Amino acid sequence: MTTYTAPIEDMMFLFQKLRNNKSYNELEKYKEVTPDLVKNILEEAAKINQNIILPLAKSGDENPTILENGVVITPPGYKEAYKKFIEGGWISLSCDPKYGGQGMPKTVSAFFDEMLSAASLSFKLYSELSIGAYNCINHHATDSIKNKFLPKMVEGKWSGTMCLTEPVCGTDLGLLKTKAIEQKDGTFKISGQKIFITSGDHDLTENIVHLVIARASDSPLGTKGISLFLVPKFIVNDDGSIGSRNGVSTGSIERKMGIKGSATCVLNFDNATGYMIGPKNKGLNSMFTMMNLERIVVGIQGLGISEIAYQNSLNYSKERKQGKSNNSKLDSGADFIIEHADIRKSLLNMKSIIEGERALCFWLSQQTEVSLYHKDENTRKEASDLVSLMTPVVKSFFTDMGMEITSDAMQIYGGYGYTKDQGIEQLYRDNRITPIYEGTNSVQAIDLVFRKLLNNNGDIINQYINLIKEDLKISGEKIKPFVKKMNENIKLLSEFSNWIKEKIKTSKDDVSAASNDYLKVLGLVATAHAWLKVLEVSFKDYENNKKFYEDKIQTANFFFNRVLPRVESHYLTATSGSKYIMDFKFN
Ligand SMILES: Cc1cc2nc3c(=O)[nH]c(=O)nc-3n(C[C@H](O)[C@H](O)[C@H](O)COP(=O)(O)OP(=O)(O)OC[C@H]3O[C@@H](n4cnc5c(N)ncnc54)[C@H](O)[C@@H]3O)c2cc1C
Repeated sequence: MTTYTAPIEDMMFLFQKLRNNKSYNELEKYKEVTPDLVKNILEEAAKINQNIILPLAKSGDENPTILENGVVITPPGYKEAYKKFIEGGWISLSCDPKYGGQGMPKTVSAFFDEMLSAASLSFKLYSELSIGAYNCINHHATDSIKNKFLPKMVEGKWSGTMCLTEPVCGTDLGLLKTKAIEQKDGTFKISGQKIFITSGDHDLTENIVHLVIARASDSPLGTKGISLFLVPKFIVNDDGSIGSRNGVSTGSIERKMGIKGSATCVLNFDNATGYMIGPKNKGLNSMFTMMNLERIVVGIQGLGISEIAYQNSLNYSKERKQGKSNNSKLDSGADFIIEHADIRKSLLNMKSIIEGERALCFWLSQQTEVSLYHKDENTRKEASDLVSLMTPVVKSFFTDMGMEITSDAMQIYGGYGYTKDQGIEQLYRDNRITPIYEGTNSVQAIDLVFRKLLNNNGDIINQYINLIKEDLKISGEKIKPFVKKMNENIKLLSEFSNWIKEKIKTSKDDVSAASNDYLKVLGLVATAHAWLKVLEVSFKDYENNKKFYEDKIQTANFFFNRVLPRVESHYLTATSGSKYIMDFKFN
């Protein structure tokens, strides 16, 4: 089984030293969220994740969910752990105190999301979609719906789902067939089939609140005719008590490669009672509130799984002896594999990507809070544009890197990584869904290049590049080489962005074929930008914590010399165009 120690020191470093976004610090709402409070929260979070949730990873993998008499049974230990999880208030960490939540900012809840993803992604998913549904209802529903459903969801007694996918409607939601027929009392009858629904049914909560997209009978075809409905598993009476069973049933559960403890359900809606959320035919807008926040959390899933893969690989490489290293001092026998340059390179590759991503995520969490709660509209808008630009990047870059890191972890373990005992191959299998769900990574990349670089507010990518350039005006001999490398890569990002903006006018295929490379370039540059902020503090504050900062500086050194240069290769590959791709005749 894998082991895990929550990286609290690194998290606290970010919270104490990099919470320097002026607009974030102006938010009245979080004035009482002090480093001491956050440290306490993280220490308690580490305990539940390391001691109670981590063991569920293996049990969920070996005893997948089952469907018995129409009810989904979760793996052994899930019910007991879930009870402790909600009693500890972990589900409500970032929810509004008005509904019983703890009102913590994303700068804190993102750390918890990372720990929980590392401990057990399958277990995490039961609460993750609840928080997503909570956010969507909180933003778009009427007060009466909010008051009826949110307190129980925040308490964790009821959970939530997101029901979009249908057999012939995946990425292209305009193809959906589920119907909604309006009733005299203003409710709707929902009929149709949804597939691949995470936590669609289970035995952890008393009720399940499905958020379902469907087409009202008089709505147009395509994405312009989609509305959003709240469809509870059990009807909720006016006094808040649970009433009769609604017309939702579980047809089957999927057998799958990873996250086997998570119930992925086929749900049949048969004249189920539903309540419209938000305006008619604007269902996708409402659903995107949930999906955008969710996408960042999926990126964090990749980060959490990468961290546990790294920790275990590091431990293993200090225990496993094979061959003599180039600088061996031994006369006979073998060195620990951590002495081999190639293994060290793999470990540093993981570590430098993970710590850079964590710093980037922390930066993005501050921007997200500003975009939601700053009192100045322009400040909110600017932050919102940055969040919108970086959401597909975090979702896709972190999860793709998660594949690289879990694969490298398996490689470090050799045959013991491929076989089951050590739990390493499970990390690879569990992470494999993250580049697929919440919109595939390729579709995220397409969204980035076609819709996120420029929008009605202007040239967002240029604004982002200018923001980085401002941050490059740092003085200091030691940081100079990093700034130089950053400047070279910013130049490539600018050229690549201009190439995309030109090609959009003349050859959309060139842009589509370049999209994944572009996303990687932006991900690498954004991670380097986050590293630069870490470096700035590391050089300034060096004397106060030499060991920690020396580790940071050396890790950044690896990132800037060994990871960031991938930018150029992506740029050259992508700008070779698409003619030879589109003209090729497949047999
Ligand atoms: C374990 C699991 C859990 C899930 N949980 C949920 C859930 O809770 N709720 C829910 O609604 N759904 C859920 N899904 C569904 C998931 O979001 C979809 O599988 C995903 O969005 C992709 O849709 P699809 O599988 O139909 O693939 P398709 O849309 O058929 O895509 C197939 C391939 O074509 C590519 N492609 C598609 N369109 C384009 C395009 N325009 N340009 C270029 N390439 C394109 C895709 O990138 C992909 O590689 C889950 C799926 C799984 C496996």
